[in-house]
Amino acid sequence: MSIAYLTMDDGPSDITRDIIDYLTERGIKPIFFFTGQHIEKKMEEGVYALKKGAIIGNHSYSHPNFEQLTLEQCISEVEKTEELINEIYQHAGVVRKFKLFRFPYGARKLKESEEFQEYLENQGFCKLEDTHITSEWYDREGLKEGVDVLWTYDFTEYRVHNDTSLTYEDFIARIYERKQESSELLLDEESRHIVLLHDHMETNAVIPRYYQKFLDYVMLHGVTFIKPEFQYLP
Ligand SMILES: [Zn+2]
Repeated sequence: MSIAYLTMDDGPSDITRDIIDYLTERGIKPIFFFTGQHIEKKMEEGVYALKKGAIIGNHSYSHPNFEQLTLEQCISEVEKTEELINEIYQHAGVVRKFKLFRFPYGARKLKESEEFQEYLENQGFCKLEDTHITSEWYDREGLKEGVDVLWTYDFTEYRVHNDTSLTYEDFIARIYERKQESSELLLDEESRHIVLLHDHMETNAVIPRYYQKFLDYVMLHGVTFIKPEFQYLP
């Protein structure tokens, strides 16, 4: 059996309600990393997800590559979205306990990386409890030191936007390839993961209910999704 947290990026969207309804049915508590610009368009969907027990994290305002921004621009992207996330929590009447951040594209090698991480820490951002993740790759990339939240397995299902010849079976086959981000496979016994799927209507148009198909598959093959736990840096 392997144990995983579920994260879903880039929402909210028109399918957020369906996603959270399905996850609730399966007893999975996800972290949604929303962008500010999508929250502005789909505030009610965000509120709905939150009321159903999702945790909302910050995925920037406009989804830029942070490696190409100045420190000030990075901070402004985070702050604009923080305000919108606080608004969702207020509308939903839910107390916000955790502040989480994920870099767009996972592009986290900023020139002023230390300063940015310090900023996150000072603002009270916390990280996912990842002390049990044993992947060499995760250690090598310094992911245990950062406050930001990355992932160990990305389904990369968003690639169907540009290549509609890709099928459900292609993404299932990828689960078994040993050259993914992590040196451990998602289905390896005793492994621990942070799984990434995306909240994308475009994917749903090509592979309807893709999130259900992928998650039901991996759960059937030994993955158990657990409730997110957090860790504050000392
Ligand atoms: Zn993203």
